[in-house]
Parts: sequence; structure tokens; C-alpha cells
Amino acid sequence: MHPITSAFADATPDVNTMQVQHFVEERPWAIVIVVALVLIGLAIGGGRYRGRPDQLDSRRRFTDAQRREGSRRAGDGRCEHKLPMWVRCRKTGTHADHIYPHSRGGQTTLSNLQMLCPHHNLAKSDKIPSALYVWRLERRRTRYFPAGVSPKVEWRRGRTW
Ligand SMILES: [Zn+2]
Repeated sequence: MHPITSAFADATPDVNTMQVQHFVEERPWAIVIVVALVLIGLAIGGGRYRGRPDQLDSRRRFTDAQRREGSRRAGDGRCEHKLPMWVRCRKTGTHADHIYPHSRGGQTTLSNLQMLCPHHNLAKSDKIPSALYVWRLERRRTRYFPAGVSPKVEWRRGRTW
């Protein structure tokens, strides 16, 4: 390679690196913001598009026994939904919901079931919940689930968010 071209090729990455270093030294908070945005993005969107429609549970409807147990562990059959910064919904959870939608590969098992009132079930539809949504649900459940019942959400055996 021609010496001048070679020197230029070598110099280019250094200039870029120096520019980045300079930018960060001037604005150390920029790194914090970028990291925070990436983490928020992962929390909000992390659970999306993981399901495979070709691996659907052959059974879509929860059994009566599963519904009864879902109601019992939810505490007086109450809806398990809670808005951010708000109290838990006070309506009765009459609908057994696949937390991870059946249409995206979520199993029809107790570990993937939550009780919702008709309004919140309709609002959730077949959306795949975010990791943040599931984390909040599991945390709430430790307060109202009976002792010995796992609050863990598993949408397919051994698979969580
Ligand atoms: Zn509700």
C-alpha cells in the first residue's frame, strides 16, 4: 500500500475514537442517558415477538379447574391488573387470560394464567406483555398469592421473560 494511503487509513479510526472520547469527556451524562434508554427499551419491548405461532398449545381454553385455582390464588377472584402508579383493579376477574398470548405460543397452563376483569382482558387483547409488566405482576403476586404458590410467570415450560 502507498505510504500516504496507509497512514491515512490508520489515522481515520484514531480520529473517530478521539472524537468520541472528547464528546464523552465533555458530556459524561450522555453515557448515562444512552444506557438508561437501552435498558428501558429492553424492559418495554423485551418480551415481544418471541412466540412462534407454529408451536401453539393444542388446548386454548383453560379448564374449569384451572380457572377455579386462578381465582382462588388471585384472592377472592379479584382482577390482577394494576395500572402504573395506581391501585390494583377492584373488579372481579371473570376472564382467565393467557399472560403470554396463546396465539403467540403461550401455553394453557396455570403458570401462564392471570385472572382479569372483562375490561382489562379486552384491553390486553393478544399483546405480548413486556418484561416490566411481568416483573410487576410477579412482585404484586408475592403479596396476595397463598403461601407456597409460585408467583412466577412461565409461558412455556422453563421459559420466562
Ligand atoms: Zn380489571
